[in-house]
Amino acid sequence: NKIVIAIDGFSSTGKSTIAKRLANQLNYIYVDTGAMYRAVTYFALKNDFIKNKKLDSEALISSLEAINISFKFNDELGFAEVYLNGENIESEIRTLEVSSYVSPVATLSEVRRKLVEQQQLMGKGKGIVMDGRDIGTVVFPDAELKIFMTASAETRAKRRFKELLERGHNLSYDEVLENVTTRDRIDSTREDSPLVIADDAIEIDNSDLTIEEQVETILKLVNK
Ligand code: C5P
Repeated sequence: NKIVIAIDGFSSTGKSTIAKRLANQLNYIYVDTGAMYRAVTYFALKNDFIKNKKLDSEALISSLEAINISFKFNDELGFAEVYLNGENIESEIRTLEVSSYVSPVATLSEVRRKLVEQQQLMGKGKGIVMDGRDIGTVVFPDAELKIFMTASAETRAKRRFKELLERGHNLSYDEVLENVTTRDRIDSTREDSPLVIADDAIEIDNSDLTIEEQVETILKLVNK
């Protein structure tokens, strides 16, 4: 009996790290929904729908049909990478530029409708771990297990900063902290599907937990 595990929470709370581990251990599919919003944002940047720091929402919305997002499992990495119209964009979507426009793009209802529909199809009848902001509230309100991850803003910015440095990005800690807190504010206050904790979600503050401790805690909940 495979279930749906929804993992939601603020930016850089380590959702994807935990979700990937869980999926591998349970032999479930892992879906990174943030990567899908990032893919749409990357598309918008590529097509000059974001110019002089301004997003042309109408132009993006009328081009949504030209966006085809897919995932392909990479054996070496142990998770599925994201593709935009057949092109692997897994590393392109992790830049600070994409990070700084993704939350405005994710406020658009037309974008959300398209992605939520695809996400629901991906999880149909399968064991799945999906991470995002609205998985337990909108995408899978009937998910058998809902986790809401939190951690202090500093803990989160430090993690993300370290990760970006390791990937060779050149930026400052302050820029990362600013991006993380700005995204959380936009995500929590948008009209369509704001980031809120589902009534039946279990909150895990992982500021002082190791990855192993978190995975173990959630596996116990799965087996309950
Ligand atoms: O998870 P990640 O940090 O990559 O998500 C990037 C952004 O995509 C979030 O800050 C949010 O604006 C948006 N997002 C969303 N709903 C989801 C997943 C991500 O609005 N389910």
